[in-house]
Amino acid sequence: MDVTFQTKLHHNDYKVDQETGALSTPLHHTSTFHQFDFDSFGKFDYSRSGNPTREALESIIAELEGGVAGFAFASGMAAISTALLLLSAGDHLLISEDVYGGTYRLVSEVLSRLGVEHSFVDMANLNAVRQGIRPNTKAFYIETPSNPTMKVTDIGAVAALAKGVGALTFVDNTFLTPQLQRPLDLGADIVLHSATKFLSGHSDVVAGLAVVKNKDLAKRLGFLQNSFGAVLGAQDCWLVLRGLKTLHVRLAESQRSAQKMAGYLESHPLIKAVHYPGLKSHPQYRQHKSQASGPGAVLSFELGSVNELKIFLKHVKLPAYAVSLGGVESILSYPAKMSHAAMPAAERQKRGISDGLIRLSVGLEQVDDLIADFEQALGQVKVRSLKLA
Ligand SMILES: *Cc1c(COP(=O)(O)O)cnc(C)c1O
Repeated sequence: MDVTFQTKLHHNDYKVDQETGALSTPLHHTSTFHQFDFDSFGKFDYSRSGNPTREALESIIAELEGGVAGFAFASGMAAISTALLLLSAGDHLLISEDVYGGTYRLVSEVLSRLGVEHSFVDMANLNAVRQGIRPNTKAFYIETPSNPTMKVTDIGAVAALAKGVGALTFVDNTFLTPQLQRPLDLGADIVLHSATKFLSGHSDVVAGLAVVKNKDLAKRLGFLQNSFGAVLGAQDCWLVLRGLKTLHVRLAESQRSAQKMAGYLESHPLIKAVHYPGLKSHPQYRQHKSQASGPGAVLSFELGSVNELKIFLKHVKLPAYAVSLGGVESILSYPAKMSHAAMPAAERQKRGISDGLIRLSVGLEQVDDLIADFEQALGQVKVRSLKLA
């Protein structure tokens, strides 16, 4: 029976444990497995290579993304690092210039040392992408919407360019999840997630996932997962599985609130810019609409100066001020000191990450309470910056 995404979160192969009828996936806390036969081993032999709780999570994320196999890792960065080990010395990687800071660090400081070349491009500009292709370009790496400037890349067009030169397309789908965007359907080969964010959703676990489009990649990435060994522990797999069950209601509600917050911020005189693909003023509003079913629950906005930002943060009460996003609680993050601290200041400026820019991940608080809180904090900015002037 073909069902919607919302129902798939509940109606899947792991809905009922076949042995006991348990509705919650059994947590297999074991490192190893007894073999009942001398030389014909069972499906599981050692938990780095495979664990039944992890298998449930890997199979469910593969189904949700529309891929053939899923892989669970100890963090989003472990998933990204392991997937990029598909590249070899001498290969070239073309990558979005405003990627997550940890991915920037991995590519520029680790992979470069191992002989994997890279260049950063503005993936929203297809001409720049075309010009960035080299004879040894083996992979294109996209984050859309990007972090934290929310630029949108045409996944289908980039995947077609990649296919034309025999390269793979990787997409970090952390911000939207398969509920809102399915990169494999658009032509990508590998989808990556920090499951720490919306997929688990409760700010209680660090986890990463990868999903691949075909059997050959499944074999290669499975080999790397087992070789490199950065697998997700059973307990953490169980937490992600539990979080996934409420993904639809959480993300739908947070997205509704984010849309309202974006509108509120856009009309506020102290806010210089709002970056959110759900706003008609977003430069790639139409492109985003054509490839995703919603703008998500993360946005960024700019105050006039670091000083104004400090006053705002001092007075805003409801959101946490923290690294991360995608939790039940609203979170404000300051990219220059948090997600993008690994990026030199000059590189941040080049990418439009100004010192007055702050990112908001909208949680499940009542949105009018959030707006009232922002209103009073921005009121303080007005009063105090007038005093300073
Ligand atoms: C958080 C994040 C990552 C890294 O994931 P971890 O789970 O923190 O290792 C990668 N990409 C994006 C877009 C992220 O937000």
